[in-house]
Amino acid sequence: MTTTTWTRRGACRTADPELFFPISHTGPRGQADTEEAKKVCRACTVLRNCRADVLDNPPEYGVFAATTPDERRTLRARRLNPN
Ligand code: SF4
Repeated sequence: MTTTTWTRRGACRTADPELFFPISHTGPRGQADTEEAKKVCRACTVLRNCRADVLDNPPEYGVFAATTPDERRTLRARRLNPN
């Protein structure tokens, strides 16, 4: 499956794009907004493809593959240094 194939099936394609770019990921409001975006990702049929892609080419901002930028950095660091 190519990237262009799976991206066409992303649940975010039909969601409000602003949902994936909350002003903050911290604080009660930021966490609630982030969780709302993550819920869409967790129900997405291409989550695994998306996760692999965002760990290879991590976007600097926003929620992708049910991860925040900080979570992507942590996952990438673990992948590079699993011990
Ligand atoms: S996992 Fe999230 S960001 Fe990735 S394609 Fe699906 S809805 Fe979009």
